[in-house]
Amino acid sequence: MMEDYHKLADLCIECGACTEVCPFFIATNDIKYGAMAKVEAARRLFKGDPLTDEDLKTIFLCTRCDECHKVCPQNIPISVVIQGARAELRRMNRVPEKYKTIAEAIIKTGSPMAAPPEKRLAYIPEDFKPPERAKYLYVPGCWSGIRLPETARASVELLRISGLDFTVLGDRERCCGLFLIDTGMLEDAKMLAEKNTLLFESTGAEFVVTECPACQDVFKRVYPSLFREPKYEVIHISELLHDLINNGALKVGNSGKHIIYKDPCPLVRRSKVIEAPRDLIKRVAKLVEYDKNREDALCCGAPAGVKPIYPEIANRLAEILISEADRKEADIAVGCVFCMYHMTGVIKEPGRKIVTLSQLVLENLAD
Ligand code: SF4
Ligand code: SF4
Repeated sequence: MMEDYHKLADLCIECGACTEVCPFFIATNDIKYGAMAKVEAARRLFKGDPLTDEDLKTIFLCTRCDECHKVCPQNIPISVVIQGARAELRRMNRVPEKYKTIAEAIIKTGSPMAAPPEKRLAYIPEDFKPPERAKYLYVPGCWSGIRLPETARASVELLRISGLDFTVLGDRERCCGLFLIDTGMLEDAKMLAEKNTLLFESTGAEFVVTECPACQDVFKRVYPSLFREPKYEVIHISELLHDLINNGALKVGNSGKHIIYKDPCPLVRRSKVIEAPRDLIKRVAKLVEYDKNREDALCCGAPAGVKPIYPEIANRLAEILISEADRKEADIAVGCVFCMYHMTGVIKEPGRKIVTLSQLVLENLAD
C-alpha cells in the first residue's frame, strides 16, 4: 500500500492547478498550505527525506474535501495521498497527541468525544419505542446524536409524522470511524466496518439513512472496501426527505425566507447528492447559492482532524462562509451537522442560527 501511495504522489507534474482551489490556500493565502505543497511534502516523506515542521503542518492541514481532485490533470486522488502520508507519520510516531486521543476514544468508547453510550438516547422522544426490525434504519452519527441531539430529534419527528417504518439504534450505535480512515488507521477502521455492517443488517433494514454525509460516504463507499458489500442501501436524510415531500407523506408550506445552502463535501463530491437538498429547500423557502456551490463548494475547514489542531485556520473558513451568507442576507441551512457545529462556533451575532435540512422542513410543515 505504501508503494501505491508513493506511486500516486510521484505522478505529480507540479502544474500547481490544485493549489488555489485548496481551502487552506484560500484561508491563509500561502502556497505552503495549498494542495500541491501537500503532495510534495508527502512525496518527500515516502522517499524517506527528512520533513520540516511546515511539511508536517501542511499534511495535517487537509480536510480530505476532494476539491483538488477534479482539477488535477494527472487524476491524482490527493486526499488518498494525504491519508497515506498520515499513516506513515503514525508509524513514525509523528502525529499530534490530539490525534492519538481522538483515535483512542473512537476505538475504546465508540465516539470521538468519548461519550458514554447512554448519551445517544437523548434525541429519541420518550414516547417513541424503536422497533427491533424496520424497513429504514436512521443513523444520526456522533455529532448529531450526541453533540447536537436536537438535530437528530428533528429528523426522527419528521420520520414519525410521515408514517415511515423506521427504527434507530440508540445506545447501540457507534462511530463510523471516519477519523481513523482520514488518518490512515485502516486496520482499526476495518473492525468498525465489520461491527457496524453486521449491526445494521441485524435490524433487517433495506435502507440505512444517515444524518451525516460523512457517515453516508463511509458506509456506502469505504466499508465495502474494508469489509464487504452490505445487504442494505445507504442514503442521506436529504434524499429521504425529498422523497417524503414529493410523495405527499410530508406536507410543507413555503415561508419565502432566503436560505443559503452549504453543500457538505462528501455529499456533493463523492455521493453526488446535489439537487435533492436544493429541491427540498425550494419547497419551503427561497434558495440562495454560495458563489462556490455544488461540486465547487468551499469546505467548512474542520474535518479530518484539522479543527482540533489548527482551530484558527479552520475558523477562518467558517467565517468566510458566514460572511457570504450575511452579505447575501440569507439564513444558512446545512446538509452536515459537523459543518453546523463548526460554523455556529464562529457566529458573533446573537440569535443568528444555522439549521439542518430536517429542522428547516420541520419549521415549515403545513398545518
Ligand atoms: S483534499 Fe481538500 S484540503 Fe486536502 S489538499 Fe485537497 S483541496 Fe486541500
Ligand atoms: S494538480 Fe495534480 S499534477 Fe498538478 S500540482 Fe496538483 S497534484 Fe500535481
